[in-house]
Amino acid sequence: MSEKNQVNMEPLRVDLHSHTNCSDGHLTPQELIDRACNYQLDQLAITDHDTVSGFEQASQYINENQLPLTLISGIEISTLWQNFEIHIVGLGLDVKHPKVQALISRQQQSRELRAQLMAEKLAKAGFEDCLLQAQELAQDGSITRAHFARVLQHRGVVNTMQKAFDKYIGKGRRAYVKPQWCRVDEAVDVIKAAGGYSVIAHPLKYDLSTKWLRRLIIDFKDVGGDAMEVASCQLNQQQRKLLIELCHQYDLQGSIGSDFHFPTPWSDLGRNLTLPEPLPLVWQNWTQ
Ligand code: AMP
Ligand code: MN
Ligand code: MN
Ligand code: MN
Repeated sequence: MSEKNQVNMEPLRVDLHSHTNCSDGHLTPQELIDRACNYQLDQLAITDHDTVSGFEQASQYINENQLPLTLISGIEISTLWQNFEIHIVGLGLDVKHPKVQALISRQQQSRELRAQLMAEKLAKAGFEDCLLQAQELAQDGSITRAHFARVLQHRGVVNTMQKAFDKYIGKGRRAYVKPQWCRVDEAVDVIKAAGGYSVIAHPLKYDLSTKWLRRLIIDFKDVGGDAMEVASCQLNQQQRKLLIELCHQYDLQGSIGSDFHFPTPWSDLGRNLTLPEPLPLVWQNWTQ
């Protein structure tokens, strides 16, 4: 715990869900750390899609510059559950664990295959050579649909990334390809084997009814899941209360995270992550 918090007993400023350009974030790991320090965060987890490659760069940068920020290792694993793409965040895991590395290489293969198939479908829709441009944006990081959305936006096919999802690459649209992600239990097992905590990411972003969300939570808890995100930038107090109540009911800890990719008028790193009610929190596992 930092001196600031010991003296003033202020709550820790924590953000446990963020992205860098190792996946579909726009900042380098170093730039993300600078932003976290400017915003006086105490703890940050970098949770890139199916990769941990930002962690080492970020932690080296923190050490070299003796920055007052605790970096939590993290990952956001794409899974398939009942035909929904559910994201499981892993926190505080050993990023070098062989099971983590094996899952990452499997997921990366699925990402590359899906990218090729998506580019073929986009070509049929009249948009040639999207793969090369998406790969250029992704460089050697995880290739995601967000990169394809940026390509379509840069070409003027759509004027927002959201529209690229709505018209072409979102579920059920003409260039959508069903991905070969791992199962939820596989993601939870790997995170656990590597000593980490598993978290259901942004539970209200899957278009699940409350009944289906409860099913997901029950299945997640059954396979050893630990926590669920209960606050992100855009959730209102009523939504936070619902998620906190679900955590209490199913004995999950809470986590909070902005899911920062780049600043927007409605979201930023560490912003608006307050909780309306108390709850056992996943980061208390490593701050007590
Ligand atoms: P992928 O994991 O490759 O399927 O890419 C999913 C990523 O695309 C998410 O993590 C978001 O960053 C981004 N994304 C998903 N849906 C949308 C959307 N409707 N508008 C903008 N970005 C989106
Ligand atoms: Mn993303
Ligand atoms: Mn996600
Ligand atoms: Mn995310």
